[in-house]
Amino acid sequence: MKQQILILGAGFAGMWAALSAARLTDLHDRNDIEITVLAPQPELRVRPRFYEAGVENFAAPLLPLFAATGVKFIAGSAKEIDVANKQVWYHTAQKQLAALHYDRLVLATGSQINPIVPGAHEHAFDVDTLESAAHLEEHLHQLVEQPDSYARNTVVVCGGGFTGIELATELPARLRAILGNETPVRVIIADRSPVVGGRYSEDLCTVIKQASDELGVEWQLEADIASINEHGVKFKNGDFIASNTVIMTMGVQASPLTAQIPATRDSQGRLHVDQNLKVVGHEDIYATGDVAHARTDDKGNTALMTCQHAIMLGRFVGNNVAADIIGANPLPYSQVNYVTCLDLGAWGAVYTEGWDQVVKSTRAEGKKIKIAITNELIYPPKPEKDIAFAAADPLAPFV
Ligand SMILES: Cc1cc2nc3c(=O)[nH]c(=O)nc-3n(C[C@H](O)[C@H](O)[C@H](O)COP(=O)(O)OP(=O)(O)OC[C@H]3O[C@@H](n4cnc5c(N)ncnc54)[C@H](O)[C@@H]3O)c2cc1C
Repeated sequence: MKQQILILGAGFAGMWAALSAARLTDLHDRNDIEITVLAPQPELRVRPRFYEAGVENFAAPLLPLFAATGVKFIAGSAKEIDVANKQVWYHTAQKQLAALHYDRLVLATGSQINPIVPGAHEHAFDVDTLESAAHLEEHLHQLVEQPDSYARNTVVVCGGGFTGIELATELPARLRAILGNETPVRVIIADRSPVVGGRYSEDLCTVIKQASDELGVEWQLEADIASINEHGVKFKNGDFIASNTVIMTMGVQASPLTAQIPATRDSQGRLHVDQNLKVVGHEDIYATGDVAHARTDDKGNTALMTCQHAIMLGRFVGNNVAADIIGANPLPYSQVNYVTCLDLGAWGAVYTEGWDQVVKSTRAEGKKIKIAITNELIYPPKPEKDIAFAAADPLAPFV
């Protein structure tokens, strides 16, 4: 019987985990290890692009890549992790319940928005999944059929983090393309912070404010959302904004499967992992990407729920889970560099370096970097074994 490495999830972390594990088993000429990815679809859904128009295009096929690298794919959705018996129960594509045994498990099921605001579930949109972003896009296109009104022409984006800012700064142009240039569209970011871009470096906040002002994106600051209904957003201070389009971008939590593993989790539900990305207290379970709480360096920084971290966490975890079975030395995860590249719609983009977010490029120059990252760098490698394995090496340069 082959030793089974089971990877749950085919996102950035899961895909790279599979390739990296396949690379190491190939390097050691081990045919007695099977690497299986279980996920609902055999495609990499490029979540960082879900704020853009044309969202149905942002998924890259994975079957040719997995075939070229000897990774087995099973379509399904994990429901229960039976830690004691080392098996995962899942729903097949036909909704049948089935089980898979593992010798080593890699949890890579990502994150999801979990808004706790009353009414959000029923009345708010989001760009968290391909389906929900497509639903928003369809709604935006249908606005033109509604009677002209303040509420029709106003979009409220709840949450002024990166996703909220990227979406809000893109929206004025998207709305004008749908409603016409003469329509007085309003895009408002509602955020708890007292300053625009509050949680980021002063340098970056200055740029975000400048771009927001030039694009006409408004900020409702110190805004505590009380509830959302079909007419708009109500704030705890009594303010109300009438809007037919309220979009939630806050409240992201790790996949609920993390709760099935008896181990320490952080406030976002991420499992604490050691330097080899093994879940603390478990010998045969690893966590990676948005479900992992991992130290990136010895300065106290931890991985964020970003693609940039998920890709590297995936490459390291795949290597280490395979090394564990092979008996090779693991590579402790380390990711010292941290950059951000924030799209600011028609204004351009801003690129920063370091954890203190020093601004290095803005406007058209920043946009070029953004496009290179989101349209190329984060996509899967070519479905050719040598190219994929070279890219999956955890020590290959990234950012
Ligand atoms: C709108 C938006 C914009 C973003 N912008 C940026 C950005 O500019 N830069 C950046 O670095 N990051 C950005 N991010 C964050 C980034 O997309 C995530 O950090 C990244 O996708 C995490 O990768 P992951 O592999 O851990 O999870 P995901 O990419 O979410 O992949 C999870 C995988 O698990 C699968 N899965 C889920 N549940 C199950 C289950 N029960 N059983 C089996 N499989 C399951 C999913 O289908 C998927 O294949 C953005 C995210 C969003 C939503």
